Amino acid sequence: MSPLLELRDLRKLFPVRDALGRAQGAVRAVDGVSLSVAQGEVLAIVGESGCGKSTLGRLALRLIEPDAGEVRFGGEDLRGLSAAALRARRRDMQLIFQDPFASLDPRMTVEAAIAEPLRLHKVVPRGQEAARVAEWLERVGLRADHARRWPHEFSGGQRQRIAIARALASGPKLVIGDEPVSALDVSIQAQVVNLLQGLIRDLGLTFVLISHDLAVVRHIADRVAVMYLGRIVELGPASQVFGAPKHPYTRALLAAVPGQGAKAPPLAGDVPSPMAPPTGCRFHTRCTFAEAGCREHDPALRGGSHAAACHVFEQLPPAPLARETETGGDRLRRLQAFFSADKPGAAA
Ligand code: SF4
Repeated sequence: MSPLLELRDLRKLFPVRDALGRAQGAVRAVDGVSLSVAQGEVLAIVGESGCGKSTLGRLALRLIEPDAGEVRFGGEDLRGLSAAALRARRRDMQLIFQDPFASLDPRMTVEAAIAEPLRLHKVVPRGQEAARVAEWLERVGLRADHARRWPHEFSGGQRQRIAIARALASGPKLVIGDEPVSALDVSIQAQVVNLLQGLIRDLGLTFVLISHDLAVVRHIADRVAVMYLGRIVELGPASQVFGAPKHPYTRALLAAVPGQGAKAPPLAGDVPSPMAPPTGCRFHTRCTFAEAGCREHDPALRGGSHAAACHVFEQLPPAPLARETETGGDRLRRLQAFFSADKPGAAA
């Protein structure tokens, strides 16, 4: 089956200037990323902050323009679309933002916020928007009469439910969630993860989850892409990436999460500047397995359906299985079970 979303050798540089406006260089936010997302798949993009994962999400939706590379949606190159054609395409591609307090316009009622994309994309006949808004409010665990209220009257979790309703009401095929639960309390996170999982399943959504929370990723992703300094360093099925990580960076990331059970040398030092990434393998300044050749030769992503960008991953000692423990995925599942009575009007 052809992929719904295809990114080919995407690149994005952000120029850096000093106070006088003089060019100081450029941040290589995304530096040659290729990947595809199949219809109905949940792909997670993980990595430390500043690795380029949020920029990649915005490039995929063409909210920002790439400097090079292709974005294909349903086989169509989005770069070739006129502004009007791209606006029409937006109905099929939506973004859920991290901050539920910033993503809703405080001057719009909940009804106006959810009805806006319905009107813009002519999703329902005129006069039927209110009924569709009420339907969506109940679907995300709120009440129909919440439509008359203002965003400031809701908690963070409720606002994120409203933002999810707004994103999904126009019937998109692809949704990108940029840290959609990380700004919420842990107990509320579990409810919203439950809600998202149910909607992905029921609507057959293709979902790209951008997250640094490996417990959430492990719980809902089919495949995982691990990013480091603007590049993908490991890509594979979630069960394999978590169960038998290949790249030393992935091993270190998992080892840094309490309860993931993976033992690996911890990450040493800070992430190098994305304005001047290290030569050869970009991870060599922090990698305990680095050899002389790693400083000179840039490893390609290789290994088939579970690939890693490392010269020597086949020779590394097997990574201990990343067990889940109470402080990792089990905690999330336990909370999800606890809050699974996700009834209209009862949502936080
Ligand atoms: Fe480490 Fe070398 Fe592999 Fe890079 S290529 S991850 S430096 S062992």
